[in-house]
Amino acid sequence: MMMTNKMFNQELKDDGFNFPEDTAHENGNYNNLCCKCKVTFVGHKRRVLCKRCEDAQTIRPTKCPFCGNNNIVIHPNSLAIFGCEMGHPEIDVFYAHCDQCGSDGPQSDCETEAIKLWNKRIW
Ligand SMILES: [Zn+2]
Ligand SMILES: [Zn+2]
Repeated sequence: MMMTNKMFNQELKDDGFNFPEDTAHENGNYNNLCCKCKVTFVGHKRRVLCKRCEDAQTIRPTKCPFCGNNNIVIHPNSLAIFGCEMGHPEIDVFYAHCDQCGSDGPQSDCETEAIKLWNKRIW
């Protein structure tokens, strides 16, 4: 029987979670669990964050367009938590929030996307 070194033949989905640039590496085709958003992604076995969450560490929300507060935080959505208590499946939803004036950015299931939406929001 022929043995092959190639363990994974499936096409990498470009869903924003995986690291296609890792696949050429000998340890680059591991199924990892993102420690932040709990999604399964393919990449180097030492990675702990999916690509979206890794991007989230480098992208910063811009200052609040209403009050100029620079310290914008990303919150999980309380409605999503409420939904869980009502017996609905858990959905992780994030949004940018200004503690100073209480403004909320658009919601997304991805922290990075929530920051991007806040940054490009047309107020
Ligand atoms: Zn993640
Ligand atoms: Zn504000």
